[in-house]
Amino acid sequence: MGNQVTSLIRSDRSLNWQDQLSDLITDPEELLSLLLLDPETCPYSLEALSQFPLKAPRPFVERIERGNWHDPLLKQIWPAQEEQSKTESFVADPLDEQNFNPVPGLLHKYQGRVLLTAAPHCAIHCRYCFRRHFDYQANSPSRKQWDSAFSYIAEDSSIEEVILSGGDPLALSDRQFHWLMQQLAGIEHLTTVRIHTRLPIVIPKRVTAELLQCLSESRLRIVMVVHCNHARELDPAVADGFSALDAIGVTMLNQSVVLKDVNDNSEALINLNKALFAHNVLPYYLHMPDQVAGTEHFMVSDQHAKALIKTLHATLPGYLVPRLVRENPGERGKTRIA
Ligand code: SF4
Repeated sequence: MGNQVTSLIRSDRSLNWQDQLSDLITDPEELLSLLLLDPETCPYSLEALSQFPLKAPRPFVERIERGNWHDPLLKQIWPAQEEQSKTESFVADPLDEQNFNPVPGLLHKYQGRVLLTAAPHCAIHCRYCFRRHFDYQANSPSRKQWDSAFSYIAEDSSIEEVILSGGDPLALSDRQFHWLMQQLAGIEHLTTVRIHTRLPIVIPKRVTAELLQCLSESRLRIVMVVHCNHARELDPAVADGFSALDAIGVTMLNQSVVLKDVNDNSEALINLNKALFAHNVLPYYLHMPDQVAGTEHFMVSDQHAKALIKTLHATLPGYLVPRLVRENPGERGKTRIA
């Protein structure tokens, strides 16, 4: 117990976000010990760990209920034995993204928008991630290669929006992020930068004064899509970060994935969307999980997901009901299911 307390204290208030980012929990045994769970009854897969290592920030782990093996936050990060299940239709690149990759680090899949994989890593490894097999090293541009990406965007005036995506763009330092934002602001026809991130949730201290200043000074419209799957991910520190972002005019949206044993019930989704709204965030998408190798145990049927949305419509105002969507390989947009 002494060690557990010491370990948790290391996530304390005196550490900055980068200290917390370099002090992730990567050992399942340590995680079980912190959560007061018995390793004998909590199996994990060494094969899954070697393919996609455990990465869990301590501020996120603090929100997991001690002694609860079924905790919905734990399920999102646990390298379960079920990841070893090998069904042919579950593949490494279910969205065929490599075919939309004209220069390293840039995906051009959608009309008017390009996606930059801005950072080669994330603060947390979400086991359901559709990019868990993505080769970030091969797609992690040097400054010189960034120039190719910026030239590609500059030469196509139909591109209005740049989406900064995972790896988590806010895993960049404030200095690197500021540089990236300045380069984008210099491309005249761009109007909007959309930041897909989980960092303000998993390490709330990532919302630094420097980040706020960088975002508030940009001439570009900033949209931030946080990826929150369960209301318990939102604690007062997360709420403070969201409020600060909202106060400088960032449009705050949420995108969730409907995940078996995490949020595949109407109560969890109602609570999530109410909690997000209380923290100035509007629901945007509820994604069906992609058929990624190692994630089959998270799958939810279309029928069940549609029934959940129906219940949400009957319970919540329309603006709190996310669009249920799926991405299909080769298609240039999301397919709306409900
Ligand atoms: S933060 Fe996003 S990109 Fe990173 S592992 Fe989680 S879902 Fe995937």
